[in-house]
Amino acid sequence: MNMSPKPSGTIPDRKIYERRESGVRSYARSMPRQFGRAQGVWMHDDQGGRYLDFLSGCSTLNYGHNHPLLKQALLDYIAADGITHGLDLHTDAKEDFLRAFEEVILTPRGLDYRMMFTGPTGTNAVEAAIKLARKITGREMVIAFTNGFHGMTLGALACTGNAAKRGGAGVPLSHVAHEPYYDYYGPEVDTAELLEQRLSDPSSGLDAPAAILVETVQGEGGLNAASPEWLRRIAEIAKAHGALLIIDDIQAGCGRTGGFFSFEGMGFTPDIITMAKSLSGMGLPFALTLFHPELDQWSPGEHNGTFRGNNHAFVTATAALRHFWSGDEFQRDVARRGALLETRLDRIAAEHGFETRGRGMMRGVNTGSGELASAVTAACFDAGLIIETSGAHDEVIKVLAPLIIDDATLATGLDILETKFRQAMAADYAVAAE
Ligand SMILES: *Cc1c(COP(=O)(O)O)cnc(C)c1O
Repeated sequence: MNMSPKPSGTIPDRKIYERRESGVRSYARSMPRQFGRAQGVWMHDDQGGRYLDFLSGCSTLNYGHNHPLLKQALLDYIAADGITHGLDLHTDAKEDFLRAFEEVILTPRGLDYRMMFTGPTGTNAVEAAIKLARKITGREMVIAFTNGFHGMTLGALACTGNAAKRGGAGVPLSHVAHEPYYDYYGPEVDTAELLEQRLSDPSSGLDAPAAILVETVQGEGGLNAASPEWLRRIAEIAKAHGALLIIDDIQAGCGRTGGFFSFEGMGFTPDIITMAKSLSGMGLPFALTLFHPELDQWSPGEHNGTFRGNNHAFVTATAALRHFWSGDEFQRDVARRGALLETRLDRIAAEHGFETRGRGMMRGVNTGSGELASAVTAACFDAGLIIETSGAHDEVIKVLAPLIIDDATLATGLDILETKFRQAMAADYAVAAE
């Protein structure tokens, strides 16, 4: 028996990952460092390296890493022996969260939703949403969109477009029709009208849908941002054809595109909304499915789970709602930063003849090439900037900086991106000229 006084882990053994961790790991491959600490917009590795985080856990850390206020709320709760796990029992933490969500989010927006705590990952919130839509309508088919991303469990995966992800299913993924998203065929073709035409044509072969499931901005699918008009039309089409409209706000919500919900001010109200990622505010697993009260046709335990309603996440989420969303200062800051980001990315894209994508603080540059995009993001990482790609061919360089980032630090990160982009393009041309 090893009686070494050194706690395990103090002797570096970085081969442990290759030896023991499944090959399914992915982000660790493009960022091969060991991280120990993170605060605000910065992550620190064990070699003294400091990284500016423009990925934010794929928009799970909208308020940055270990926000002092959220951290303190959680520390206080744990110190007072607050309930950590309570199945779906009523707890002080749950009451506080439900009340904060009602007071800060729903009531001021004139929204009326029931709140369902699913298992704590986004995909589980999507499973609950499509199950409920199928149960209510008695229909099987769900309409999802090209480049949509909704999670990895079978029901949500069936709604996801990406072939590599779908290939992992091992069984047929069925009962979903993938229709062209906004602008899929370019600005000349109105894909909402195409959908309407197919749904109205008794001979189109498209079954009547239980739901239309859509992201307002496709986070993993390349930052395609649908226009408010298109989304409003999709909402009308859903209603006209007896389908429920599900907005998957897991990545675009919680302020990423400006408002708490990504569809705010667009003139429609979804029947069902899914949320996760930044909902806890601190990166804790936490997911929520919202639906109009008359849709709450679940029988007790029908969609069950051991980890429904993470009490620690209730605590941090409540603190985040009350701190960031009680007034409109945070939203104004995010809008200003989003405009800064837009200006800078437009400039970077224009320099190389590319285009930008996205909305709010969820924007990127479409480089048209996965190779180029990954060359740029790899060079950025070496320069201390964590940034990832998105899209069918990983061709879009995606900026998901924490929403709390100050303007100067945002500019610092964008300076790195601008420089590395220029260098990658120059290197590319040098190779092409040889
Ligand atoms: C991340 C994501 C999901 C899946 O969430 P998980 O927590 O990874 O299961 C679903 N939909 C969208 C839009 C997402 O970005």
